[in-house]
Amino acid sequence: MARKPHRESTAPPAETTAPRGDSAITPVEQEHEGIYQAALRPQRFGDYIGQREVIDNVKVSVLAAKKGGWALDHFLFAGPPGLGKTTLAHVIANELGADLHVTSGPAIDHKGMLASLLTSLGEHDVLFIDEIHRLNPVVEENLYPAMEDFKFDLFIGDGPHAKAITMTLPRFTLLGATTRMGLLSSPLLDRFGFHWQLRFYELDDMTAIVKRSAQLIEVAVDDNGAAEIARRSRGTPRIANRLLRRVRDFASVEGDGLITRKIAASALDRLSVDHAGLDALDRAYLLTVVERFDGGPAGIDAIAASLSEQRGTLEDVVEPFLLQAGFIARTSRGRVATAAAFRHLGLPVPGRSRSGGSAQGTLF
Ligand code: ADP
Repeated sequence: MARKPHRESTAPPAETTAPRGDSAITPVEQEHEGIYQAALRPQRFGDYIGQREVIDNVKVSVLAAKKGGWALDHFLFAGPPGLGKTTLAHVIANELGADLHVTSGPAIDHKGMLASLLTSLGEHDVLFIDEIHRLNPVVEENLYPAMEDFKFDLFIGDGPHAKAITMTLPRFTLLGATTRMGLLSSPLLDRFGFHWQLRFYELDDMTAIVKRSAQLIEVAVDDNGAAEIARRSRGTPRIANRLLRRVRDFASVEGDGLITRKIAASALDRLSVDHAGLDALDRAYLLTVVERFDGGPAGIDAIAASLSEQRGTLEDVVEPFLLQAGFIARTSRGRVATAAAFRHLGLPVPGRSRSGGSAQGTLF
């Protein structure tokens, strides 16, 4: 069937997680940041670096939908912020030649808003809902029949004269993104054709992303310079793009514009991003567990209170990478700092064996 060219319509704005890598960022800078990241966004499968398993599988479904002329299944993408969930939604819509409508869970705050969103969709359009775990429960319940049967129940009028009508919706594809798969209700999870987990990127892929972005913003970077930025970007493309811009500033003011390993390392040291990619908040988290809670186990609420941070920020943004990098472990009794965390902070590793719960007795 004939497909419309890809066009993005932006439904109510998505609430964004505070960006990493800049300590204080104003709303104007945030807007610039958004424009900058969007400009670097891959548009096709061929430009999307890494996440091979997810991409190879999604590609098959997209090709099948195009070939068969049906709407792509609803898919859910999970993973920490900045790994490319929104980018993937853009790529999928582009590859399908479908219109993309972008919104977020908290932005759809009542049923009427969901109704207007769904009724604005065309046949085979793609609706992307970021932070889908934050949907209001009434909105979520009304989404179920829309996803399953492409139907939406509306009440017209009030009181005894209210009339229920069922609207038939066009066949659309819902792409959901979440940083917290565990917070999704099972009825919502069940209505997705598949759940894809995005992982932190390997160093090679991160280096390729830094080089690609540098080329797009016309910044000269050599192989070692790109690898240094990649190594310190917590396996996260959005952070790599942000750090690239900061390092470019240093290279242009203090060097001849070329980003080398030396320039990158000295710039990132000065920006408080250490050789493992940890920033001030990551290190404050580790120090709290190590010094205040004697290495743990420590409960997440107690850590959040000590740091005056939101628990959600720690769970969504800080902990996933610290867990992946092996600096902390989660036990039934709370978070425990590993020997690697003590070493990273330059502190002596306690000699005793800690028993934080199952399987964590040999952390030291
Ligand atoms: P998320 O939605 O998971 O928070 P985004 O899709 O907004 O993350 O990605 C942030 C930025 O990182 C994008 O603007 C894009 O420039 C870059 N990016 C993400 N994934 C990739 C990738 N696989 N290849 C190249 N760049 C990427």
